[in-house]
Amino acid sequence: MQNNRPCCVECGKPLLKYTHTVFVQKPGGGGRAKEDVYAVIHTKEEAQRHTNLEVVSVRRGIDGTVDRFGTWDGESWGHEGRGFFCNQTCAANHGYRAAITNEHA
Ligand SMILES: [Zn+2]
Repeated sequence: MQNNRPCCVECGKPLLKYTHTVFVQKPGGGGRAKEDVYAVIHTKEEAQRHTNLEVVSVRRGIDGTVDRFGTWDGESWGHEGRGFFCNQTCAANHGYRAAITNEHA
């Protein structure tokens, strides 16, 4: 666990890691995105060999092999990875309140 995990500036909850999902294709399978990895992966450690980013989660398909895994760049948090808000709602609420505060300043 990180000690420097930032919190949402609106509601104060700790922000989640902003992760990117990499899809794993079996060799010979059709690709969907440029980040796709062509391999047969069984463990988180194996997934880690396919990226420079930190592998934070893996999901296995029905055959038991990893069909996607989540990567984190070690520094992006929260909504859109900006590090301010946990979600769109908190961002919007914060914006509304700022606008109202300015209007009455
Ligand atoms: Zn929030």
